[in-house]
Amino acid sequence: MIDFKDLDPEDGVQFVESLGMEPFRFYQVMKWIYKKRVEDFEMMTDIPRGMRVLLKENAYISSLKIHSHLTSKDESEKFSFLLHDGFIIESVFIPSERRSTVCISTQVGCRMGCSFCYTGKMGFSRNLTPAEIVNQILYIKDHKKNRLIHNIVIMGMGEPLDNFENLVKSLRIITHQSGLSISPRRITLSTCGILPKIPELLKEFSVNLAISLNASTNEKRNEIMPVNRKYPIDEIIKLCKDLPIGRRRRITFEYVLLGGFNDRESNARMLGKLLSGIRSKVNLIVFNSYPGASFREPEENSIRRFQEILSSMGYTVTIRESRGRDIYAACGQLASFHLKNKQKIS
Ligand code: SF4
Repeated sequence: MIDFKDLDPEDGVQFVESLGMEPFRFYQVMKWIYKKRVEDFEMMTDIPRGMRVLLKENAYISSLKIHSHLTSKDESEKFSFLLHDGFIIESVFIPSERRSTVCISTQVGCRMGCSFCYTGKMGFSRNLTPAEIVNQILYIKDHKKNRLIHNIVIMGMGEPLDNFENLVKSLRIITHQSGLSISPRRITLSTCGILPKIPELLKEFSVNLAISLNASTNEKRNEIMPVNRKYPIDEIIKLCKDLPIGRRRRITFEYVLLGGFNDRESNARMLGKLLSGIRSKVNLIVFNSYPGASFREPEENSIRRFQEILSSMGYTVTIRESRGRDIYAACGQLASFHLKNKQKIS
């Protein structure tokens, strides 16, 4: 049995053709699922009854089962979902006055092993399917009574470019006009820097790119991000300089401020120097400590000073608010909490 939500347009057309239907039937079903939010083939009334039966015999339409839902004092909401095989993933809804954003996961755990990250510490279990990626957005959209979701950030659990094939299929569904019709310009993908996959992704989707940098020398970055041994800083910078990102757009560099490790004034100056010549902005993320963490949170003074130095060098610098701190909304923390004690919920 095929999960209909795993099908991107190319696979979907092939699938309906294999059942003797014309390609447009796939797009009809897509509209029922993603636009009208009907998840039962029986109820897709503009499709002849015989075809509906055929679809039902050969495919199903999956949905996510909620495991827990927590609302923060700042109104961000954390959803954790129980997958069919007992794993838990999480997504976050972040409202703001003018725009709302959904942050989604792409893997259960992560194999990149960044030493400051709770998800990294829990190791890797498996990739999410295209359906599981898309279903996070659908669930939250339904839960918020179809409230407009302006932005999608792919910054939850996992390294998205390490699950490239399923990520791309899900993006084809998310951006398709018969799917969720979300423009790639409203999607931001954060990566630790799996360099060969970046141009490949941008060739098909002009999404916004965020690179999780966190240090400005190889020596420092090697200490906290094993991926740097394969794709070192100089190669990241070279690639970013060569990327055709368009005149009005900029690459975001994320920098998790780890108290006493990379939050000194000299670190800020080195970072500014490193990024010169790249159309970029810097997103400083204040490290959100957790039990057993090897780093401490930075002092308020160092955060401000770091920002001032980069701003004085001409960069746009934002400090990511620790939204949802009271509900463990930082990267991977809620699911990690469950998985730490029990690899699967059964
Ligand atoms: Fe994976 Fe991102 Fe955590 Fe690194 S920071 S371990 S890439 S989830």
